[in-house]
Amino acid sequence: MRQIPHWIGGREVAGTGSRRLPVFDPATGEIQAEVVAATAEEVRTAVRTALAVQPAWRAASLSRRAEVMFRFRDLVDGHRKEIASLLSSEHGKTVADASGEVARGLENAEFAAGAPHLLKGGYSEQAAGGVDVYSIQQPLGVVAGIAPFNFPAMVPMWMFCNALVAGNGFILKPSEKDPSVSLLLADLLRRAGLPDGVFNVVQGDKEAVDALLADPDVKAISFVGSTPVAQSIYETGTRNGKRVQALGGAKNHMVVLPDADVPAAADAAVSAGFGSAGERCMAVSVVVAVGAVGDTLVEEIATRIGKIRVGAASDPDAEMGPLISGAHRDKVRSYLDGEGGDVVVDGRKSEISDGPGFFLAPSLVDKVDTASPYYTDEIFGPVLSVVRVDTYDEALKLVNDNPWGNGTAIFTRDGGAARRFQYDVDCGMVGVNVPIPVPVAYYSFGGWKASLFGDVHMYGPDGLRFYTRTKVVTSRWPDPATSEVDLGFPKVR
Ligand code: NAD
Repeated sequence: MRQIPHWIGGREVAGTGSRRLPVFDPATGEIQAEVVAATAEEVRTAVRTALAVQPAWRAASLSRRAEVMFRFRDLVDGHRKEIASLLSSEHGKTVADASGEVARGLENAEFAAGAPHLLKGGYSEQAAGGVDVYSIQQPLGVVAGIAPFNFPAMVPMWMFCNALVAGNGFILKPSEKDPSVSLLLADLLRRAGLPDGVFNVVQGDKEAVDALLADPDVKAISFVGSTPVAQSIYETGTRNGKRVQALGGAKNHMVVLPDADVPAAADAAVSAGFGSAGERCMAVSVVVAVGAVGDTLVEEIATRIGKIRVGAASDPDAEMGPLISGAHRDKVRSYLDGEGGDVVVDGRKSEISDGPGFFLAPSLVDKVDTASPYYTDEIFGPVLSVVRVDTYDEALKLVNDNPWGNGTAIFTRDGGAARRFQYDVDCGMVGVNVPIPVPVAYYSFGGWKASLFGDVHMYGPDGLRFYTRTKVVTSRWPDPATSEVDLGFPKVR
């Protein structure tokens, strides 16, 4: 069986541990490779490797570090297809969807390439007589990122682009379910000129994460995954003196007001509910139909669901692929066996849902009871719930009472209502007639409530803030009249 290696010191390194974790082909259900789970010693080796080279990387000029990001950006751009196909082969999402993921990841390299501008500190001349005060942002040292299965390329890029350009060493612990793309990204970083050892990958699961959490040389942890793990990583990491940002799960509501463009809202609900088989933290999982819009909306959504082509990522006509594993597919499917709503479209009845791959065709459940698991759980699969309410206020209360607060959207033609919603709603990311409002890379990404543990959001300006610490210098100088003649053009490297 093919074994997935780690990446330490600028090259692939075979794992030495005894535990093997399966990497499936979700379209066939077969095991295609295995991860040799990293041991605590292997994690320590990766951390020491990064520690040894980080001071030199930190000392590289800002222009040089930005240059590596520019080159990495171009390499990712040139390898979009390869990255997308590799990712799809382990995750199961369609190649078109995977290409979209790569494109959104790429934005982060573009943002990070602007670090020379973004890392400029403040300067106050004459804070006191002859005294100037200025601030500088310095890297933390060695930091780590722990990624979920659902965005194996984009989420690591959310993390490492900013961390690296700020001068940190980085240890990535990818999801053990789709680990290969991390190695391709590591190789592209190497080819972009990143010195060996600055970026390392340890494959594995909880054991590797626990080793990172316990390692005193890991100064910060970025985590993206489910809420219970996010909370536990935040608690352990901060107790161990680390800076932690831990993004968790979600239950994203899409509120549809009676004046909305119903066909457009139905298009959005289906795209955002079933894209990537519902395995997106920003997927719409609950449509909140306000007032009279409910019946028509449900009908329009159901019609569109009937036309979704479910198939393997390798099928160019497929719009929705399989779920990540058999166990997850069975769990998602089991919601449909329960009470708490009217199943309008039943994905279990589709032939593909019985196949050897981990497929489950899309389902729509109307009149969902908010006390039922359809509403209380993050199902993370192709099951879209509709909750009916009478008023805008009821819709808002529903969103705000929900324990998660990742993304939400409102569909309406009424600008005043949309503005009121954006003002009142307790979520970190809001869409107005936009169903998956993942911010562009020059903003930052983060939910509220149980969707994020920590103080700063991920990537964008918050990302750079997370991976640096500020030092403020107060300085007084005698007035030195030192100068020299040099006719050469001033250089930065
Ligand atoms: P997960 O929590 O099972 O795993 C995430 C990472 O943590 C993986 O690398 C995994 O190996 C590791 N891990 C798992 N259990 C652990 C444990 N007990 N101790 C230490 N480490 C552990 O999540 P997943 O199934 O890979 O991803 C899906 C989840 O991620 C969903 O809940 C989804 O909403 C969430 N997610 C959130 C965002 C966001 O931005 N908020 C983005 C993507 C995914």
